[in-house]
Amino acid sequence: VLGSIGYVVYDGYVARHPEDQFVPDPNKKTLVILGTGWGSVALLKKLDTENYNVVVISPRNYFLFTPLLPSCTTGQIEHRSIMEPVRQILRHKKAAVKYYEAEATQIDHARKVIKITDNSEIKGTITENEVPYDMLVIGVGAENATFGIPGVRDHSCFLKEIRDAQAIRTKIMDCVETAAFKDQATEEIDRLLHMVVVGGGPTGVEFAGELRDFFDDDIKKLIPDIADRFKVTLIEALPNVLPMFSKQLIDYTESTFKEEHIEIKTKTMVKKVTDKSVEAVITHPDGSKETVTIPYGLLVWATGNALRPIVKDLMSQIPAQKDSRRGLAVNEYMVVQGTRDIWAVGDCAVAGYAPTAQVASQEGAFLAGLFNNMAKTEALENKIRELSSNLNLKPGNTAEITQEIETVEKRLRRTRDVKPFHYSHQGSLAYIGSEKAVADVAWLNGNVASGGKLTYFFWRSAYLSMCFSTRNRVLVSLDWIKAKIYGRDVSR
Ligand code: NAD
Repeated sequence: VLGSIGYVVYDGYVARHPEDQFVPDPNKKTLVILGTGWGSVALLKKLDTENYNVVVISPRNYFLFTPLLPSCTTGQIEHRSIMEPVRQILRHKKAAVKYYEAEATQIDHARKVIKITDNSEIKGTITENEVPYDMLVIGVGAENATFGIPGVRDHSCFLKEIRDAQAIRTKIMDCVETAAFKDQATEEIDRLLHMVVVGGGPTGVEFAGELRDFFDDDIKKLIPDIADRFKVTLIEALPNVLPMFSKQLIDYTESTFKEEHIEIKTKTMVKKVTDKSVEAVITHPDGSKETVTIPYGLLVWATGNALRPIVKDLMSQIPAQKDSRRGLAVNEYMVVQGTRDIWAVGDCAVAGYAPTAQVASQEGAFLAGLFNNMAKTEALENKIRELSSNLNLKPGNTAEITQEIETVEKRLRRTRDVKPFHYSHQGSLAYIGSEKAVADVAWLNGNVASGGKLTYFFWRSAYLSMCFSTRNRVLVSLDWIKAKIYGRDVSR
């Protein structure tokens, strides 16, 4: 009985019946989507999967709600609360979607195939393969920018993936417990408890705020003997942090950080990293430069995005991409310039917007609408073709059929009229520690800038409503309550 329904219900989950599994339809185009981040998942959410043979390829088998990643570094939020399994997302689609947990290593633009590698620890007999496509969406995001600065990759932690947040969480406690070791030298305690964050964008600022909270709320109480020596320094090459926010909010953030004893070193460019210190050049107000060595226990590198090798390689295959530096140049329909059947969304695409989650998800949703429309257009064109051939076969019904053709043509004109992508900026939000946040929110025809405790509650409710699923929302809320009542979990 359950088989005929097409679903099997067990343990509260609805599983796809084997008959419902992915079987490519030779009459449909194969749409391959690379990545499971903001852009790709927003596309998948709204895509009518009945129109295409949809294949998803990503080495990460979950969607990650990145805005709350800094909270995972201190245990304020448990990492699984902000992850949503891809299989779970795909289960809800009308027609089955094929998912390969694999890294797409190369796109062969001429042959229209993608080379994939299975990077999992357990290896099968086949670890490399090719996936052909008719249409391709690239949503692979970006990697961490290091600008080739020596030592960065070897000694610092990034803050992009779940494993980064886990590594930071472990390292914070490692520094604290080592600093508390019997008879530890004072100088060494100071080094171990000096947490340095490089990059004054939202990632660096939010992490610095979360870190300070962790020490003030929990470590201070649990290990009071070392608490006074804890220090956070935020290093930024530009004259101020959070350049995307208004001057008023930048000032508010800087003064809040002063109260929280987070030192901001602006106009300071890190040039070299070793296992225990960073070397940075400070530009003083009179223009003179000074090189300083800053010892650290934990170093977090948050200096923005760089191109992934697969994107660089594709750009080198397409002459129209020659002058693009920051990613795949796309037109107003997100089509990769110089191609007809490749689209790009999110941080790997250059559409004239900042590389944010908000932009990526709007681009993904736009593409879903575009693809749903393309399928509708094709169906209407086929209908007209069919009606036109009926005109010759059934000459007696000419008036009726002509009328029907006109109606379908009218619908076709409406369907074809797809407006180009337009980004609607809802605002920027950032947590800055001590239960304070800053927000630049679009309001009517202008912008509202606000900072403080009330904004913090707005930040929490906005992020909660943006979580992928109700399950995520419940888990995040429970984590907040748990941390409030019992404190953060400091075990490693
Ligand atoms: P970012 O690009 O916004 O900031 C990186 C900063 O690092 C820059 O200000 C740069 O001047 C500085 N920098 C670079 N090299 C340096 C060096 N050697 N020494 C010192 N400073 C150096 O990076 P991000 O914070 O990771 O953000 C990436 C993107 O994601 C941005 O578009 C951002 O708006 C978005 N984002 C938004 C939010 C939010 O809205 N809350 C949160 C995270 C990320």
